[in-house]
Amino acid sequence: STVTADDARASDAARASDTARLFERIFGAEPTGVWAAPGRVNLIGEHTDYNDGFVMPLALPHTTTVAAAPRGDGVLALYSADLPGPVAVLPLEDLTPGAVPGWTGYPAGVLWALRDAGHEVGGASLCVTSTVPTGAGLSSSAALEVASAMALCELYGAVPDGQRLARIAQRAENAFVGVPCGIMDQMASACCTAGHLLHLDTRDMAARQVPFDMAVEGLRLLVVDTRVKHDLADGGYAERRAGCEAGAEALGVPSLRSIPHDGLDDALAPLGDPVVRALVRHVVTENERVARVVELLEAGRARELGPVLSEGHASLRDDFRVSCPELDLVVGTAVAAGALGARMTGGGFGGSAVVLVEADAVGELGERVVAASAAAGHPQPRVFEAVPSAGARRIL
Ligand code: ADP
Ligand code: MG
Repeated sequence: STVTADDARASDAARASDTARLFERIFGAEPTGVWAAPGRVNLIGEHTDYNDGFVMPLALPHTTTVAAAPRGDGVLALYSADLPGPVAVLPLEDLTPGAVPGWTGYPAGVLWALRDAGHEVGGASLCVTSTVPTGAGLSSSAALEVASAMALCELYGAVPDGQRLARIAQRAENAFVGVPCGIMDQMASACCTAGHLLHLDTRDMAARQVPFDMAVEGLRLLVVDTRVKHDLADGGYAERRAGCEAGAEALGVPSLRSIPHDGLDDALAPLGDPVVRALVRHVVTENERVARVVELLEAGRARELGPVLSEGHASLRDDFRVSCPELDLVVGTAVAAGALGARMTGGGFGGSAVVLVEADAVGELGERVVAASAAAGHPQPRVFEAVPSAGARRIL
């Protein structure tokens, strides 16, 4: 159930040649290179990355792969195997924020953001394939952005480091596509390494690789994709962000990160609005949970992560109010079936949960989660192991 370095190399090689072959079929020439960037799942640290807080994602083995070649005709030409249709042909002078609809806005936004940041990047043909489920809270958007950014940079000899690449990708999503996401997803896709969590302080961007191998503990970390995404997601996210900003302003701090966990109740007392108070409480306690997870991992006490994850779920459900019946059922069923802990992960209102479970209980747990979801009339969830994998890389 673990992915060895040899497995990973073999699957990179296979994806590189598949995507290169598709590029040739679509564009009639060989690509200059092929790049891959992973989706991610966040172990703990939710809705903290736009509050200067801490996050702790890992990269998944699922990747978005981009085969690319430069072109001299001032055009960005885009094709995705996941959304088949004619090749999208975008003249570079037409790349303005908000003007490119649909999926092509992500790679187009990356090219725009690179040029806006002063990189001399010109036209290109990009052919995209992916194994990252879209809209499952596993960050297919960041995988697409980061793979496109790496491809465009290397085609034109620009060499930004992982953090600069992540910033370009985030700018594409925020300013060009118009999605107000934080920095976690792009940093995870750009900077994670195999066998590690990325412990990231989003205030100063200090990033540390924390070894994470649940298999040696006899445990597994599972992802359960509920396959639902409620319409509330976009508006709900914007509303939570605004609530956090209102809380910081009312408390006179630059961001909620500045509020210490010790004496939290006293710190919250001046907040008249109970909704805002609960949002602030989630962010402050969530940052403290990230610190606890780091301590437990460093002390080799992986089993004790379980209750911290479950506490995080309760906080997202009750204080931050971004869970939903499908996620609550998956988490509740997993814990009732003997999981050490479980929580929704990602922005919420659907998407995925993470579950920490004894290795020998994986099969039964999966069956019980699927059965409970069926009994409730929910879509059938998809369950897989979260193996911490490599970040963005060139694969051909
Ligand atoms: P998530 O990032 O959680 O998967 P988002 O809604 O942020 O969900 O991003 C999903 C969108 O990203 C898709 O609707 C599509 O526009 C774009 N996208 C992601 N992967 C691909 C792909 N392989 N090909 C084309 N577009 C993709
Ligand atoms: Mg996304």
